[in-house]
Amino acid sequence: MREPGEEKDGEPDRWPGAGGLPFDPEAFRREGRVVIDWIADYWASLPGRPVLSDVEPGEVAARLPAAAPETPESLAAVLGDLDRIIVPGLTHWQHPGFFAYFPANASGPSILGELLSAGLGIQGMLWTTSPAASELEGVVVDWLRQLLGLPDRFRLGGDGGGMIQDSASSGLLCCLVAARERAAADGTGQRIVYASADAHSSVVKGAKIAGFPAAAIRRIETDSAGRLRPDCLEAAIRDDSAAGQIPCFVVATVGTTARGAIDPVPAIGAIARRYGAWLHVDAAWAGTAAICPELRPRIVDGAELADSWGTNPHKSMLVNFDCHCLWIASRHALASALTTKPDYLSTAVGDAGVVVDYSDWQVPLGRRFRALKLWMVLRMIGAESLRQRVRDHVAWTSEFTDLVAADPAFEILSSPSLALVTFALREGDAATAGLLARVNRAGPVFFSHARVGGRLAIRMAVGGTLTGRADLLDAWELISAMSRAGGNEPGRPEGPSPFSRFP
Ligand SMILES: *Cc1c(COP(=O)(O)O)cnc(C)c1O
Repeated sequence: MREPGEEKDGEPDRWPGAGGLPFDPEAFRREGRVVIDWIADYWASLPGRPVLSDVEPGEVAARLPAAAPETPESLAAVLGDLDRIIVPGLTHWQHPGFFAYFPANASGPSILGELLSAGLGIQGMLWTTSPAASELEGVVVDWLRQLLGLPDRFRLGGDGGGMIQDSASSGLLCCLVAARERAAADGTGQRIVYASADAHSSVVKGAKIAGFPAAAIRRIETDSAGRLRPDCLEAAIRDDSAAGQIPCFVVATVGTTARGAIDPVPAIGAIARRYGAWLHVDAAWAGTAAICPELRPRIVDGAELADSWGTNPHKSMLVNFDCHCLWIASRHALASALTTKPDYLSTAVGDAGVVVDYSDWQVPLGRRFRALKLWMVLRMIGAESLRQRVRDHVAWTSEFTDLVAADPAFEILSSPSLALVTFALREGDAATAGLLARVNRAGPVFFSHARVGGRLAIRMAVGGTLTGRADLLDAWELISAMSRAGGNEPGRPEGPSPFSRFP
């Protein structure tokens, strides 16, 4: 057996086997450098890669051994397989030509924060299990609250507070459970959830998990710009109340998934107040743009009426997935709905309410130290650069939209909302679907689709870390060339691709 850190001929990066130290500092130092270099090379290689993988279903799994090895393998062997088997089967989300879904951007400081979090290996479920993890989280989330111009009612210290969860879906679910418990005291009717027809799928998923039957979910009509209609919301709530039901939870979306529509939160909030329903603002994608004062009013208006407000720095704010920031006006409402403190989790300071045990505000008990990466991004990149990035993305998207609008073959289906625009071929859905499939198969870009006003749209969301103005101009050149060439342009070979199929 080798001693920890000992190198065998030709296999300098092998970890010690049984009996060695999993934390061998020298092996970690050496291999850590190799992995950091691998990541830096990967980022540099992205512009030369196709965004989408063309693997067939089952192809990656078939290239992997069916069982784990009995004896240690070298880092070189693992990285070799990463290069040969895994990377070709990835969609490259950090690619400068990635315009699909929403960006899930990242940055050096964020990735280093993630690494430090793993290196520290702490578990911040209770304040006592790592006081600094809880306190740093409270502080950095409040830094972000101030940068976004969110109201004082969400400040930790009063009745409210902010925290980091894994995702907007989890944050919404926790708030929904808190709303359900708050409404429970009021009567025996069915509690009802309201959200616009264009609200995110996490509303329905959260309602399912929280035990709301499908008949208790109201999808409220939107106006021609995709915004929830307050008159329709009020009518639905009034009818439900008259029928003995309990208006429980209203979701206002700031930045809908399909087209970035911003619901009129002040009007929605006034209605929710009037009927005693919980108002949750889902600003998962658009929320972080409020860091720019000139964009802020549209995004945070009405937040003072919200019981909870959530946004994802892991979309466009250079914090790698996962990092959802959730603010609540009444931490008591959340904690009282979710807390179950068995003996083994009870602590003097936690039980006395002197400190916050964030595990009482979320689904899992365990907590990753996510505050580090947000802290590092805010400190090492700084608010001014983060603002400039939002401004660039909005300006480039508007410039791109002008190019599309000037081409008579195309039609803008929803004008830009921040850095999100949707467009289509005038010819119709089939032509748009064909064009989208050909453009995505060409390699350097990836767009996803949406339904806008019943039409199939090519949907462009700008916000990648490596995406520059030139990438948008190139993307338009590719799209317009392919729209003129019909189905005959060169590109990657035609073949089944999971992204060429449309509903
Ligand atoms: C992205 C998004 C979500 C879901 O975000 P997760 O963090 O992946 O759960 C929910 N709502 C809106 C409006 C979104 O843009």
